[in-house]
This record gives sequence, structure tokens and C-alpha cells, in this order.
Amino acid sequence: MTAAPFPLFADLRNRTVLVVGGGAVAERKVEALLQAGALPQVGSLDLNEGLGRWLEEGRIRWRVGAFREDWLDEAWLVIAATDDSAVNRQVYEAATARRILANVVDDAELCSFHSPAVVQRGLLQVAISSGGGAPMLARHVRRQLETLLDDSLGTLAELLTRQREAIRARFPNMALRRRFFDRLLAGPLPRLLRQRLDATQAETYLRELLAAESQTEEKPDSAMGSVVLVGAGPGDPGLVTLNALRAMNEADVILHDRLVSPEVLRLARRDATRIEVGKSAGRHSMSQDQIHALMLEHARHGKRVVRLKGGDPFVFGRGGEELEFLRAHQVPFEVVPGITAAVACAAYAGIPLTHRDHAQSLRLVTAHCKDSLDTVDWRALAQDKQTLAVYMGVAGLGQLREKLLLAGISPHLPFALVENGSRPQQRVVAGTLDSLAESALHHRVQSPALLILGEVAALADSLHWFGAAPLPMPGQALDSQHSHNLGAPTLPQAA
Ligand code: SAH
Repeated sequence: MTAAPFPLFADLRNRTVLVVGGGAVAERKVEALLQAGALPQVGSLDLNEGLGRWLEEGRIRWRVGAFREDWLDEAWLVIAATDDSAVNRQVYEAATARRILANVVDDAELCSFHSPAVVQRGLLQVAISSGGGAPMLARHVRRQLETLLDDSLGTLAELLTRQREAIRARFPNMALRRRFFDRLLAGPLPRLLRQRLDATQAETYLRELLAAESQTEEKPDSAMGSVVLVGAGPGDPGLVTLNALRAMNEADVILHDRLVSPEVLRLARRDATRIEVGKSAGRHSMSQDQIHALMLEHARHGKRVVRLKGGDPFVFGRGGEELEFLRAHQVPFEVVPGITAAVACAAYAGIPLTHRDHAQSLRLVTAHCKDSLDTVDWRALAQDKQTLAVYMGVAGLGQLREKLLLAGISPHLPFALVENGSRPQQRVVAGTLDSLAESALHHRVQSPALLILGEVAALADSLHWFGAAPLPMPGQALDSQHSHNLGAPTLPQAA
């Protein structure tokens, strides 16, 4: 078994590092060295443009010509980045003879050190090594970590560096100091930094906490938790944002709607408690008040709660009400937007929501229940060159059509009904407004479905790219005679 290399972060500030080679690879290495405060010396016959600029700026020294051993005299480290393997080997051997660590780029055999793949957030660096033998694997893991570590960690590292002495002085005892850090990092500080409030606020919080903490007593954790309102998007897990992913990874409790797909839920931390609070047509479900109470209860127990909603939390998601409630109870909160159904369904059905020839504006409308049908401004919906995206239950399509026709919308206006948008089982039913209800009935369209109405809807025929082609409307004979049966009041859908 080969031993894994010894991990090490070297302080190269004001130390000479020799880079042999004057091309693009050498340039990348020199750039990293400059960032680390090192004094790069480049040994080569020529310099590329970037290296030339650094030379002019006096940031590097140039050893002109073919490699010579005495270039190593001042070097702490050597990197060989020429395209001549004989030269690279010569550099490695000369360095090794002098016990100087050497790296030949892309040659694991000729390396006494190698550079890891790095995820960097300011002073915080995560270095990943596969031992030098499988750099692609290290890169793969790096990409995964990139999605998990948010930007504010850099600020956090700086803040803790600034306060390091104060914290040490307050907790000379290592075990107590460690416990303080555990509490600090599980508490509101990371959130304060993410919220990018006034820069001093996090620092003030930390100082106050230091002043208040007792060194000896172990206090029960009475700190208030927090709630992140997270948009989970329409169902395709690829449409979850990085911020949503992070929030789901940090959550203790996830309160999710029924609309959130299992594929998305699977991305969340394994040991988070998941509670379905969704409302669904006909099924017994939690009232909005019960959802509020549940959020509050968990937050009061110091939990990090994620309130996970389909699409975007502020688009027909009652996110506003939930935030007002949290604010009234002084529960700290954050919001992570999500891709709303209108945007996702349009994209996955090949329907541009605006188009210079067909639509200048977009209107998001809800027609979930009788109330919303009665209060909609139908005339405004009849406006020309406008796309309507109707969030709705499929049961009310007959009524909806009648209202739209009465408002003056042409019976020939194209529509597309997108069922299960962005999910593997997505279906699109297309036609014109006069056949809307019959088409939906004929194809047995189920919730969740989104109605897109407007000239742009016809483009799905030619621009569809995901799943099956749009399903056509049934024969013209069906025209309107079923509309009475379909006029029943709609059932409330997941909202
Ligand atoms: N906050 C959500 C909307 C909640 S209202 C968002 O921003 O998307 C619920 C309605 O959204 C459903 O009745 C349906 O009309 C629509 N919807 C949500 N997800 C959908 C999907 N994957 N496909 C089609 N319609 C969807």
C-alpha cells in the first residue's frame, strides 16, 4: 500500500519559488504563487504575454535561457512546467539532490509535492488530494464541495482571524474554547454574514457573545433557531439553486409542500426531519395556521428550519404570510428564490414567454378556487400581446374559458397546458382556447398543471425539446358541448 502524501499549507510569503517554463502552464502557477505572496522566479527562453506583463510590473524575476542548477540557489520550491520532459526531469533531479521539493506539472512520478484541487473562500481553503494519481477525482470532489460552501465563509474566516486573540483570552481552556466555537458556528453568526447586513453587525454580535458567555457554566442551548423559506423549483432537481441546496444541507427540520418532488427532497441532509405540510385537493392537510405554529415551535427549539415550497416561495406560495408571521414572532429568516412553474413549464415546453412578434408582457394569474375566479380582472387579462400563465387546478378549466371568452379573448387564441412541467412524466396539451376544457378532459390532464395562454403557446409545436411532442386537441366535434359539465367549482390545489 502506498502512503498518502503529508498534507501541508506552506507559508511562501517573500520566499523564492522557481518556475521553469514560460508558457500558459507556468503562468497559471506563477499567478497562484503571487496570490500566496511568494517571489516567483521564472526560468525560460521566452515569456508569454502574461508573464511578460508581470516582469514589467516587477512582480517576477526572469532567469533567461536554458535551465541551470544555480537557479536553485535561492529556491524553497521548484515547479517544472516546460513541454520538454527531459528538461522537466533534469529540474526534478537537480532539486531532489539539493533536498528542494519539486513538482513537475502533470507527471506524478516526478513530484516530491503536488498541488491539490482547492475550494477557496477567502482565507478558508479546502485542499483535495487523490495522492497525485487521480487528479480528475480530486477535481470532481472539488466541484461537489463548491456547491456546499457558500461565499460568506471567507468573511467568517476573516472575522474569526481578527477575533482570535480575544477568543483565546476569553477561553484559555481548549475544551471550553471548542465548545464556544461549536455554539458560535451553529448559531446565528453564519446567517448574519450571509445576509450581508452592515459589516460591523456580525462583529458586534461576536463581541457581545464573548462578553456574555460564562467560562464555566454550561448553559442549555436556548438560542432561537431560524427559518429559511426555500423555493424548490418545479421538480427537476437540476433546477434547485446552490443556495437552496446549502440550506437543505444545513437544515435540522424540513417542512415541505406536497408539490416538492421526491428527487429534490433526496438532496437534503439525510438526518434532517422531514415533515409534509402540503395541501392537496380533497386530502386532509395542515392549515396555514398549523404550518405557522410548526415553524415557530421548531425555531424556538433552536432548530434550523427549512420551509420548502414548490417553485418560488413568493409566487402563489403564501411565502409573504409566513414571513409576516415569523417577523411578528421575531424568528430570524432568509429567503431563497426558486424557479417558478411559469418559467419552468414554458422553458420545458419550448414556449418563450415573451417574444418580439407575439408578447410584450407576461401576467401570472392564479385561478385555484372560486374566489380567485371572481376577483380576477378579466378585462386586463384580455389585453393584446400578452402571455398569461395561469396557476390552477385542472377542474376549473371550463369556467375559466367562459370567463376569458366573455372578457373578449379570441376563441382561437393558442394555449398550452403543461402537466408535471420539468419532470420525467411531463405532458403538454396544446390547442386553442375554444377547446381548452375538452382537450384537458380528453387527455386526462392532472395536477400539477400550468396553463399558458397567448400567441406564444403555439410555438411549442415547433420549439418543444423535452419529453413528448405536444398532444393535439381532440376532434372539433367536441367543441364546447361539454363545457357545462366542466363548469363545476374548482377544488383548491396545492398552494
Ligand atoms: N409557488 C409555486 C406555485 C404554487 S401554486 C411556483 O412558484 O411554482 C401550485 C400551482 O403551480 C399548481 O396548481 C400548478 O398550476 C403550478 N405548478 C407547480 N409546479 C408545477 C409543475 N411542475 N408543472 C406544472 N404546474 C406546476
